[in-house]
Amino acid sequence: MKHVYSGKIRDLYQDDNGDLILVASDKVSVYDVVLPTPIPDKGKLLTQLSLWWFEQLADVVPNHVISSTDVPAEWAGRAVRCRPLKMLTVECIARGYLAGLGLKEYEKQGSVSGVALPAGLVEGSKLPEPIFTPTTKATEGHDEFITFDEVVSEFGADMTTRLRDLTLEIYSRGAAVARERGIIIADTKVEFGIDAEGRVVLADEVLTSDSSRFWAVDEWEPGRPGGQRAMDKQFVRDWSSTLTDWDRTYPGPEIPADIVAATRARYVEAYERITGNTWES
Ligand code: ATP
Ligand code: MG
Repeated sequence: MKHVYSGKIRDLYQDDNGDLILVASDKVSVYDVVLPTPIPDKGKLLTQLSLWWFEQLADVVPNHVISSTDVPAEWAGRAVRCRPLKMLTVECIARGYLAGLGLKEYEKQGSVSGVALPAGLVEGSKLPEPIFTPTTKATEGHDEFITFDEVVSEFGADMTTRLRDLTLEIYSRGAAVARERGIIIADTKVEFGIDAEGRVVLADEVLTSDSSRFWAVDEWEPGRPGGQRAMDKQFVRDWSSTLTDWDRTYPGPEIPADIVAATRARYVEAYERITGNTWES
């Protein structure tokens, strides 16, 4: 097994036959900085939730999964055997509600990725309809919003339209399923790649608590002080923003045990609510 790449959260290995093994660690990153303290089971929780969604979405888009079980035993549960793809260097984001960087961008210019939004929206507001707000996929530094036309100039009109339609379809399908289970998916990011036959394939992870904002439906209240109750890494972001001695660059701070436990509980809650399975570990 050859090591080919390490992102902030996942490591990629290649098997002799060319298959990729994508291994999710328990690391957590905030503001693009990986913190030194792991969240126990996080890698497994994200991998299992992704696998569940890939299956739910199989009629919407082909995915990169070959096997969730045919992986080295030491990585069982946290690894996926998948097809190597030529990844498209754009982060495809759908937003149904306003929060995070989308909210910041809106406050600055009234639009996100060139999509104009009505005046008067606040943190947590539901958008008139879900929007496609792609960003760059920066190898260094932070991702930045780009417009639909900027994606067109890189990938062409047909491909860009396909990416937008797929992203919005994945979001809408996911949001509808999650809502029945008490979770609002405020926004989500997906990544696509091109396979050997030239098809667009859903890769990486999908509709997880790292790639999405998950909110409790029954506590949702636009403009709520402190933001919505989230079942994602917002909890770690919120804790980290209370630190006065960290400037959001490396090295990140150690996470205290109570924050680790509360974060893990949120990842478990999202997994259990969405899949209906009990987390056993
Ligand atoms: P970066 O991608 O910039 O390293 P990251 O921290 O989000 O950021 P990880 O999520 O930790 O990265 O690593 C996963 C990497 O694997 C991503 O770069 C993703 O694009 C890539 N990837 C996921 N699925 C595939 C696939 N099927 N083929 C090739 N690359 C893939
Ligand atoms: Mg990633």
